[in-house]
Amino acid sequence: MKKSEIEFYQKQLLNWYQKNHRTLPWRETSHPYYIWVSEVMLQQTQVKTVIPYFERFIQKFPTIFDFAAADEDTILKMWEGLGYYSRIRNFHKAAKIIVADYNGEIPDDRGMFIQQPGVGDYIASAVLSIAFHQPYAVVDGNVKRVLARLLLLSEPVNDAKNNKLFQKQADKLLAAEQPGSYNQAVMELGALVCKPATPDCLNCPIQNACKAFSRGKVGDFPKRLQKKPVPTKHIAVGVVIDNNKLLITKRKSGGLLGGLWEFPGGKINKGEMTEQACVREIKEETGLNVVIEKQLTAVKHAYTHFKIEMAVFICRKTGGGITLDGPVDHRWISPGEIEKYPFPGSNHQFIPRLKEYLKNI
Ligand code: SF4
Repeated sequence: MKKSEIEFYQKQLLNWYQKNHRTLPWRETSHPYYIWVSEVMLQQTQVKTVIPYFERFIQKFPTIFDFAAADEDTILKMWEGLGYYSRIRNFHKAAKIIVADYNGEIPDDRGMFIQQPGVGDYIASAVLSIAFHQPYAVVDGNVKRVLARLLLLSEPVNDAKNNKLFQKQADKLLAAEQPGSYNQAVMELGALVCKPATPDCLNCPIQNACKAFSRGKVGDFPKRLQKKPVPTKHIAVGVVIDNNKLLITKRKSGGLLGGLWEFPGGKINKGEMTEQACVREIKEETGLNVVIEKQLTAVKHAYTHFKIEMAVFICRKTGGGITLDGPVDHRWISPGEIEKYPFPGSNHQFIPRLKEYLKNI
């Protein structure tokens, strides 16, 4: 686009944003800590899901000092249900560094800020542009879709090797005098108007500039690489009961679902009976000998890169002592204490049924 076309496009987009943007709690402030909280939550998660989490979070941790001082179980419990737990673990590490090394002041220097755990290009550009009015363009899924249609970019949006190209195009279009509003305007346009399956082109403020619209190719963009089929893992899990207490174990801190608590169990080996797998996994992970009393339920759960099918058993301890191999901690809890601990989504699928079962024994 020519310079004059870019200026016209920016003006149209910013005018539209001013009149049409949603009122969201993190838009009521330009405090860098609140903006950072919202942007960490908004990565991979929809706005309507984020709103109550954001409100609870800032109520519980009104300053970065409060957040940095919290323990891991508390922060994971606050995050429970949002998924992608590495986001909150890294954010927590970063908050501790900001408090210890920067006296709680979030650095407005990109070089310093981007060194913090979990701060990549997106978070750095979002926080620096919205809170500090610095001219950095954000690129997320919404932005990529708008750019692909606006400029007829045929590079697949879900191929990381094209990230630089999308960033370059986003940089060219950035309204440098109002970078925070501009960035939010493109993302808002992607969320409300230039939607993935049903773009509302007739009410789009940048329709005049949009190449996909003028060439009748909106349905062909953005291009995407075909996803590989998602594998399914078969898992057996046991709720071990001893003296009216239930055994839960804590996953090690890194990796998927790191730091969360769960009922012990693991993958069913090829040719193995589900019940055998449950007893074996509990023995290997905890050192306990158990017998299965009954199957509680079976649940299915989908993560981004795989699905699980989980058989859940009620087990009784028959011997052995706790020797952890894999988990980093354990607790024997009463049924009423389940709510205190952060569990993965797959465990939440059977916890209501477990509570019902426990009422009747
Ligand atoms: Fe998206 Fe349609 Fe607007 Fe183009 S005209 S940016 S395709 S909503």
